[in-house]
Amino acid sequence: MDSKIIIDKEFEKQIRPVEFNQFNGQNDIVKNLKIFVKAAKLRNEALDHVLLHGPPGLGKTTLANIIANELGVSIKTTSGPVLEKPGDLAGLLTNLEPHDILFIDEIHRLSPVVEEYLYSAMEDYKIDIIIDKGPSARSIQIELNPFTLIGATTRSGLLTSPLRARFGIKFLLEYYTVDILAGIVKRSSSILKIDIRDDAAIEIAMRSRGTPRIANALLRRVRDFAQVVGDGYIDIQIAKEALNALKIDSRGLDEMDNKILLTIIEKFKGGPVGLNTIATAVGEDAGTIEEVYEPFLIQEGFLKRTPRGREVTDLAYKHLNKLRFPEQGKL
Ligand code: ADP
Repeated sequence: MDSKIIIDKEFEKQIRPVEFNQFNGQNDIVKNLKIFVKAAKLRNEALDHVLLHGPPGLGKTTLANIIANELGVSIKTTSGPVLEKPGDLAGLLTNLEPHDILFIDEIHRLSPVVEEYLYSAMEDYKIDIIIDKGPSARSIQIELNPFTLIGATTRSGLLTSPLRARFGIKFLLEYYTVDILAGIVKRSSSILKIDIRDDAAIEIAMRSRGTPRIANALLRRVRDFAQVVGDGYIDIQIAKEALNALKIDSRGLDEMDNKILLTIIEKFKGGPVGLNTIATAVGEDAGTIEEVYEPFLIQEGFLKRTPRGREVTDLAYKHLNKLRFPEQGKL
């Protein structure tokens, strides 16, 4: 592992909230989860299975860990693509203590056989495993300890309905407001002993695409600027200078966001144009555009999804200083 990854992990560990009270925003979700967790504890039962859906970096993994911590149980973490065969899942499930949590990230990427195997585990806390090979191979049923599955997905549309139906608790995480993100930036700054002014925290928050992971990442980059070209503390000038150097514009759009909008305007007359065509034109994976870039561009009103494809809005033309009908400019 290279040193950068170790430093990132260390940083991540320090600032990740571990209790509900440290988790900013998503108020309705947190309020409900607190009640469900308390009720499960009172009844001494496993919490119902939880599905968390939303774009990357909004706190799904963090919430899963908080739930485990608040329940006072262990959490085992895996992800959809890692579980290649039912045996991989069986190994994890049979090692869970009563009321433990199994967290499956990217649950929409489970293979169909593994997914089907999960059904009886979720429903009856039972699984069938095959023992022996060849003619003496037979299947035996194993009882599992009652557990909670927490699934996280960026694409709930890709989840099959039988799987979705097995989650008793489902939440959609939303992009964070600037106020909440500024609070997250300030919290991280105080943990990391970074001296930051309020207006600078707001500036970073405004350019973080509504996403705590991005806010924290930008905070670190801005801190580098503050230490090298500034006086060690982050004020609004340093924040702006650093964010501009990182090519993050005043609406929080990064280079790829702007490239997507500009490409639709310049190459496809503003759209409508299909997702795969956009992906090829900008040189980015279609899935990443759909999961990461598009939801924010849509929420901020720069892009629309229509039955015939993606279309940019007037706001996108304005933001990029482009005329929708260039010939009008010549009149
Ligand atoms: P996801 O699993 O949705 O991709 P994570 O849970 O990994 O997102 O969160 C990304 C980062 O953002 C983590 O480092 C976490 O510390 C931080 N974070 C996420 N949500 C919050 C929040 N509500 N308050 C404070 N920090 C948060």
